Amino acid sequence: MKLAARAERLKPSATLAITAKAKALKAEGVDVVGFGAGEPDFDTPENIKEEAIRAIKEGFTKYTAVGGIDELKNAIIHRIKEDHGIKYEKSEIIVSCGAKHTLYNLSQAIFEEGDEVIIPSPYWVSYPEQVILAGAKPVFIETKEDYDFKIDPDELKKLITNKTKALILNYPSNPTGATYTEYELRDIVDVAMKAGLSIISDEIYEKIIYDGLTHTPVVKLGEEIKKSTFLVNGVSKSYSMTGWRIGYAAGDKMIIEAMSNLQGQSTSNPTSISQRAAVEALKGSQEEVKRMAKEFEKRKNYIVERLNKIPGFRCFNPQGAFYVFPNISSFFGKKYTGKEIRNSVDFTEFLLGEAKVAVVPGIEFGADKYVRISYATSMEEIKKGVDRIEKAVERLK
Ligand code: PMP
Ligand code: GLU
Repeated sequence: MKLAARAERLKPSATLAITAKAKALKAEGVDVVGFGAGEPDFDTPENIKEEAIRAIKEGFTKYTAVGGIDELKNAIIHRIKEDHGIKYEKSEIIVSCGAKHTLYNLSQAIFEEGDEVIIPSPYWVSYPEQVILAGAKPVFIETKEDYDFKIDPDELKKLITNKTKALILNYPSNPTGATYTEYELRDIVDVAMKAGLSIISDEIYEKIIYDGLTHTPVVKLGEEIKKSTFLVNGVSKSYSMTGWRIGYAAGDKMIIEAMSNLQGQSTSNPTSISQRAAVEALKGSQEEVKRMAKEFEKRKNYIVERLNKIPGFRCFNPQGAFYVFPNISSFFGKKYTGKEIRNSVDFTEFLLGEAKVAVVPGIEFGADKYVRISYATSMEEIKKGVDRIEKAVERLK
């Protein structure tokens, strides 16, 4: 059977593929250190699991409202209000099967053939693919290492055409870990507003932020900005709930309704039990979130320091998320067992083969001089993995 053109050109998610590969090797008994997975290693907090069990026991196991139960929409509204002082109505909220699904529905609802969508690069793997699936064209704005991987507003201005429909923001960023102060954000958002763009702001890593910085959501910058912005978030990263599949968006109610219609014709509601668990996550104690973020910061400090001591590595100090994105281009041209390292894929293969360490090649995020290392794993694994990397690169000639 012939595949539809859109399925034929669709790339598999590299982040998920590498995570699966590392897991499969481990299952075969290979002692792999997995730095590929973009998911917290912590267990879901107990109070959240208990609420899910309660939901099952109470028989809360049927279809719910397509865009999420009122209780969860209220919990989302409560969390945004408590954290940032911003108000939303229930009609402006949709709950989906993970933030990836929220973003997918959003791009299906607002993009079409002829539209251009600006995406900061290095980017999370699913943004360009989702834009293309909606028939639109991704336009990349390169964020440079020597500009701390931040968008330069003047560069942004240059890329906007009369076809540009939206700007996607993601901060703290996957994969770089860069984030913005309120002032930096304002300069970028001003450019987008003047050009009449919509903003999709993926703030899923907002709670994992370091060095005493505070996260400023785009929608906090003013009423007009809020009207043009879709705030995307979810419980996967903050509450260590990747498998539960709950994400959400807040924004213009007409678009939210269109997204709900899309859901009604595709997935129906997100899992009823997960919705109840997410209510507890968002309304219950937030102490675990803080504890996990602190632990991530310790690991980040350790891994950045260690990697920067390895000759050939240059590692930007991230301000959030749980990835480091070191520049490894100084290894290009070097050889091991007769093979030459020419790019990030070769370097990744070298690390997996020679050091038994799984990382994601930067090319998948649009930046071939880098690799992404996730430190969402225990300190012991981090130490073991970095020791192995250190030893392996010594052998490169
Ligand atoms: N946005 C970013 C930047 C991510 O890294 C992820 C991780 N999967 C997601 C969205 C989606 O997360 P989920 O679908 O698990 O909510
Ligand atoms: N977002 C995580 C990552 O970048 C999980 C995998 C995915 O959904 O892409 O690794």
